[in-house]
Amino acid sequence: MVELRCKSCGAPIDVTGLDADAPFVTCQYCGTSQQRIDAQKYMDDMMTQIKSWLSSAMPLGMGVEGGENVDPVARHSIFTNDVRPRIESELETYRFSNMSLLGNTLITVPFNTTAVCNTDHSPNKVFELNAKAKSVAPLAVTDEDKDLISQTSAITQSYALALNNVKLLSEVKDGRWGIMATNFRESANALKDAPQYALACERYNALAEVADGFAMFMQGNITDAQSHISAGRDMLTALKDKVFSDPQMSIMYMGIEQEINVSNIVLDIAGFVSTMGGDPMQTMNIVKDVINAKPAQNPRWSFLTGNQNRFNEIFAEISRAISAKNSGQIPIAAGQGDILVPFWEVDLRYTFVTGKLWSKKSVEVKEDLLICADFIMDPDCLVNPSSALTDVFRNRPESSIMDSIKGEETRISGGTGIGRIQDSVQMGSAAGKRIVLPLSTKAEAEKVCVDFLAQVSRTHSKFKLSQPQVQRIIYVPCTASNGKLVLPKDFGNMVPDHLARMTQNSVFII
Ligand SMILES: [Zn+2]
Repeated sequence: MVELRCKSCGAPIDVTGLDADAPFVTCQYCGTSQQRIDAQKYMDDMMTQIKSWLSSAMPLGMGVEGGENVDPVARHSIFTNDVRPRIESELETYRFSNMSLLGNTLITVPFNTTAVCNTDHSPNKVFELNAKAKSVAPLAVTDEDKDLISQTSAITQSYALALNNVKLLSEVKDGRWGIMATNFRESANALKDAPQYALACERYNALAEVADGFAMFMQGNITDAQSHISAGRDMLTALKDKVFSDPQMSIMYMGIEQEINVSNIVLDIAGFVSTMGGDPMQTMNIVKDVINAKPAQNPRWSFLTGNQNRFNEIFAEISRAISAKNSGQIPIAAGQGDILVPFWEVDLRYTFVTGKLWSKKSVEVKEDLLICADFIMDPDCLVNPSSALTDVFRNRPESSIMDSIKGEETRISGGTGIGRIQDSVQMGSAAGKRIVLPLSTKAEAEKVCVDFLAQVSRTHSKFKLSQPQVQRIIYVPCTASNGKLVLPKDFGNMVPDHLARMTQNSVFII
């Protein structure tokens, strides 16, 4: 017998093992802590709702209490004429939304939040239908009637809990992975006798395993986290192909594929935390900062920045950088500074046309370019790509007008100092130095470079587009002055505007 209901989500609150006069109770399905009297009041209100629903569903003067005593034919007739249509119409919208919810990815990387889908259903209403179905269960006589009741119970229970998880995915709340694991497991339990949901049941069991692993990960218990996440990931992998060949459930395919992906990303991050050694919570703080450091929002970039796979690459690079503080090595340019600032190294080949009429010719130029490896955090860089990098076209060499007419121009860009920096790069240790964390992926660096060259070709009519080669991340030693990063003199006037905008506090330094 349920005594209390959560005032926030409407779930029954398990009071077993709870002190009967404890003034506060916590909902195990959404984590809301509340006064017992509020949970009691919510329960009473819900019962009143259900009673009024019942009295409108029942023929005058009939009570559902003592339903067992009413003869079966009369019960079946009440059920068919008055109860079934009301339950079915409400159930139908939930059944439909539940299926479309199953088409989504139902987990995300720890510390991250995600908006799963837009549903206007509140778990409260769904739990209410669940309670209504229970209240009319004594009227169900035939197998068909009983089947409607059990289907309603199964679907509403699992759907309401899934809605709770959708909300938890959208907010960073302490202990949310433990709660989500409970909800996944209870959802699976609710569906275990509904054959048409067998694959959804399997998926929820797998997700419970993954969420358990995420909860352990958050506590710094990396070894156990890894074994739970990989167990869940393997269950999802086994499920994926079964889902594909089931026309009803194939809607889950993409979601499952992404969940496998998310599990693998977190396994990689867990690997990163364990290779770092030392206090896992310290490394977890870096992980948290990096995941929370959201890339700047720009619709033209969201196909890259919205992809959680980017964390794989970023954490691999960060792991290399941190290991260079101990025994590892990273590519570092020559110089004195004690702050290592990461840049993407780009080989740029472009052609331009010089000369007029008979002396017209194409010249091929090789140029070096550096892109700030944290440019992706700066909204201005996404709009104005030249501010993310060393704008070599800013320094057009002084060449006489005669040169350009005679076709003797050799280049329309100038990045010599940058070339010297790149030539000085050697593998080396970062011991005793501080490192600015690289936060962009190679694909993102390629896009900013391509966007930049498109910008150049609009202003330099002689410039012909080329395919830039983004090579790797190199680290340039810099100093700090008045909270700003100071780059080596070789940058000349090509210090990216992005760096001029950044203060030491706005970059991630470890
Ligand atoms: Zn709740």
